[in-house]
Amino acid sequence: MTTATIIDGKRLAVRLRAGIARHVRQLQEQHHCVPGLAVVLVGDDPASHIYVRNKGGQAREVGMNSIEHRMPATTTQAELLARIAELNQDPKVNGILVQLPLPEQIDPEAVIETIAVAKDVDGFHPYNAGLLAVGKAAMVPCTPVGCMMLLKDQIDDLTGKHALVLGRSNIVGKPMAALLLREHCTVTIAHSRTRDLAAECQRADIVVAAVGRPQMVTGEWLKPGATVIDVGINRVTEPGGKSRLLGDVDFESAVKVARAITPVPGGVGPMTIACLLLNTLTATCQQQGIPAPEVRPLSE
Ligand code: NAP
Repeated sequence: MTTATIIDGKRLAVRLRAGIARHVRQLQEQHHCVPGLAVVLVGDDPASHIYVRNKGGQAREVGMNSIEHRMPATTTQAELLARIAELNQDPKVNGILVQLPLPEQIDPEAVIETIAVAKDVDGFHPYNAGLLAVGKAAMVPCTPVGCMMLLKDQIDDLTGKHALVLGRSNIVGKPMAALLLREHCTVTIAHSRTRDLAAECQRADIVVAAVGRPQMVTGEWLKPGATVIDVGINRVTEPGGKSRLLGDVDFESAVKVARAITPVPGGVGPMTIACLLLNTLTATCQQQGIPAPEVRPLSE
């Protein structure tokens, strides 16, 4: 019985952040410019508070300015849009991220569309999504960018590989499929109306699971030797009341069939924040008219 390589996202993220920190230092030394990331948090969602704290902390660790804007759960849409308009104009702010989900009185699409395209470090603005779709340089959502780095760490040339993306959300599934296509994969996108998911999976050399269904993809669904990227983060409560995080892939069975697989936690998650910092660095360079560096994870 073979056991897959476990793709260590935590380690790769540490190396990527080291590469980013080096470029941030150079920006400061050569151009007297410090990238600024504004993170806007509306309301009291406990998970969002943790994400925002982590994003701010990691931005500061690589030498960026991180500006947190906390707004109450009662904030109106007009108030939030006004705050974003201010940040769009602020020259010290190079990247703007509005933490989702938002309270129900606020339309997330209106918020995303108000963020200046050049400062859209989450890559959710329809203009950036359009650039990606037509194959032009764009701000690309952080999670798919991180998934691509994890994949490329394992597979030098993705040309001609059959890739299955499970999930078609605007923030993960669709941009992931576009990135795989850019690398010349043959891409299938599956979703809740797909007829035979197991059969689709069994054809794939690469499976990217982003459905939000704990342990849905089992080893039996996988082609032997497939590379599996598990985006899912599902918090489940076990008998006895303890809670733990599970991916969309049943790790125990998949690890016996796959060639390489990301764990949950410790796979895609750490790469997402590192790629947010990378997008912020790129946005800063573009706004300053400086060529954006090709940052790769630094080797240890
Ligand atoms: P989402 O917007 O809810 O989209 C889920 C997608 O999965 C949809 O396209 C849906 O199909 C499809 N789907 C749902 N149930 C299915 C089923 N039984 N069979 C086949 N397809 C099914 O979710 P998301 O925002 O893309 O996130 C997906 C997962 O990734 C979540 O667990 C989320 O927490 C996690 N995530 C992790 C990170 C990270 O940094 N690691 C970042 C973002 C998201 P329809 O379109 O037909 O409804």
